[in-house]
Amino acid sequence: MRLEDLMSGVQPEDDEPPEPGLPDPMGDEQWAARLAGGSEQEEPGDEAGPGDETDPGDWIGADELAVLTARAREVTAAEARAAVLLGPEVAGLAAAARRGPGLSGPLDEGEYSGPLGALARGGVLDTARPCGGMALLLEEAVSGGYGNASDDEVMGAVCGWHRVIAWATGQMYAGTAEFIGRRPADGGDGAGWSEFTATEIAHSLAESRGAVEIMLGTAQDLAVRLPGTMTALLDGDISDGKARLLVRGTSVLDPAGAREAEERVLGRAGRLTPGGLRAAVTRAVIEIDPEAAARRREYAASKRRVEVRPEESGNSCVAAREVSAEIAAAIDAELSARARELKLHGIGTGTDDRRVLAFLEKFGLAGDLPGAGRGTGNSGGTGNSGGTGTGGGTGTGGGGGGTGGGTGGVAVPAKLTLTATAGTLLGLRDRAGELASHGPVDPELTRRLAAAALRHRAAKVSVIVTDEQGRMTGYGAARPPTRAERERIRRHRRDKPGNPDSTGPPGNGRQVLTLTPVPEAGQVKSGTGYGTWLIEPGHGGQDLIVTIKAVSTDPCDHRLETAAHDPGAELREVTNLRYVTCTGPACRRPASQCDWEHNIPHDKDGRTCLCNGKPACRSDHRMKQAKGWTVEQHPDGRIEWTAPTGRTAITEPHRYPTD
Ligand SMILES: [Zn+2]
Ligand SMILES: [Zn+2]
Repeated sequence: MRLEDLMSGVQPEDDEPPEPGLPDPMGDEQWAARLAGGSEQEEPGDEAGPGDETDPGDWIGADELAVLTARAREVTAAEARAAVLLGPEVAGLAAAARRGPGLSGPLDEGEYSGPLGALARGGVLDTARPCGGMALLLEEAVSGGYGNASDDEVMGAVCGWHRVIAWATGQMYAGTAEFIGRRPADGGDGAGWSEFTATEIAHSLAESRGAVEIMLGTAQDLAVRLPGTMTALLDGDISDGKARLLVRGTSVLDPAGAREAEERVLGRAGRLTPGGLRAAVTRAVIEIDPEAAARRREYAASKRRVEVRPEESGNSCVAAREVSAEIAAAIDAELSARARELKLHGIGTGTDDRRVLAFLEKFGLAGDLPGAGRGTGNSGGTGNSGGTGTGGGTGTGGGGGGTGGGTGGVAVPAKLTLTATAGTLLGLRDRAGELASHGPVDPELTRRLAAAALRHRAAKVSVIVTDEQGRMTGYGAARPPTRAERERIRRHRRDKPGNPDSTGPPGNGRQVLTLTPVPEAGQVKSGTGYGTWLIEPGHGGQDLIVTIKAVSTDPCDHRLETAAHDPGAELREVTNLRYVTCTGPACRRPASQCDWEHNIPHDKDGRTCLCNGKPACRSDHRMKQAKGWTVEQHPDGRIEWTAPTGRTAITEPHRYPTD
């Protein structure tokens, strides 16, 4: 955007506004002085005249700048609002105004009137799309120091600079892409760059060649494969880190696939934490080209290794790289299990320390620890599940452990939590599953893990139904059928062979289970997913039965409410499945490791119910109770956090994949 655009919502009061079209360009000396950080205000460029070669349209005129900077100091809340009302194409405001957590909310009129008012939430500089002009205005706005600026205004400056950095980084990548064009690869097919390009740039930047290679790759991908990501970076919607995450994550896809993946995640990329974005990209890649994702996984596995690296502290890091997700989850679970035993013996200073002790114990490096040599036990199965046809049914899994069968024939005791869609388990679709503590896994691995889990007698299976957006609308916990139920199912099958609701027998090798509606007071409406279902694992597991009931808080039927302070097991389970992680905006801690927290405290008449409960980790729980914070739980499940600055950030119920 142009500087004039940014400020066009504010009429200059000066008697002599700068002549449009003929602003004086800033001289080199003035720029140098400005860049050197001189704090004194330059006199508008007297010596640079209209005869200067520079195209006036490409430069910020000194007169213009003087007016603008003066205005930046004077923008009041009301003026900022007026500028906002002029619309995005005039001021470049709207799109950038709602970025990630902590970004601007509505401006409270009259609340801000100081010189830094343009930085208050909703103010011109808080919402402006980044550009060089914005950087100048930000610099001018804060040049007198923050003085008695409000916390909100200071936060507005931080957010503004954050967007300017993203924009500047995008500009740097654009220049780098141009340079690549001038150093084409010797093959001449247009891809890549010639042999010494990275070194040449490394000399100029005093960077390592490796770092420059990454920069070149990112620049080329942003220019060629991911133009939407480049735009988002230039608009300040995403940071450099997130852009690189998109580049790396989509590298396995062909150009069309990369664009599709970009399209699927970009809308949310600004709001997601890096971890959330990584999972979203991985999921998109798996779903766009499952084979490519599996190939990458297998290729990388062929390069597995143990790395020993120095830590910056002077200690060392030992890491097994590119081992399978099952193996990693198994090791993770076993270390945690052993850590819990060590805690009972009063050994170690915390969970992390005990997990390291458990790790060292495997190599005989932990000394004599009590209870050594005992198996850590195999706690059970995997969740997974059913869901249903229409409306995007989704299965999800709740805990339990299970033999993960492991790769290479190693049976590993593990506690895995797996989420899979019904269509994937029925062999009808290829949707990514999700392994807790790991992230999205490809459909083939999802089915393998689900089959292994269902063979385990202690597997715990939860089934949820979702709406089209993937938000939970129904839930049921699976259990073995009673004898009477078995009999009823048997009779029903005899009476009605070829039930149209049945999914048919496993047979194509992709099918992990069958789902059959159980006749029970006519509850199962074809295609709705609610009612009672029989789950038959196709690979030697035991049959399960599940009754799915609607779950909603809008309005809430308070079905799971209890008068007590602590939630019952089912309420806790449903809450965790609804949110999956801590509801703190910058947090991804698994719900199972969080407090079940009353949004309105129990002693202030807050219900112990789904409509007033959410997972919050200790830190976020304490933050909510800290001075200046307010947290609202909306009927649709969204949680709105308002910081002491008045800025808000919203988290929403988990979105499961849908078939
Ligand atoms: Zn309720
Ligand atoms: Zn948290």
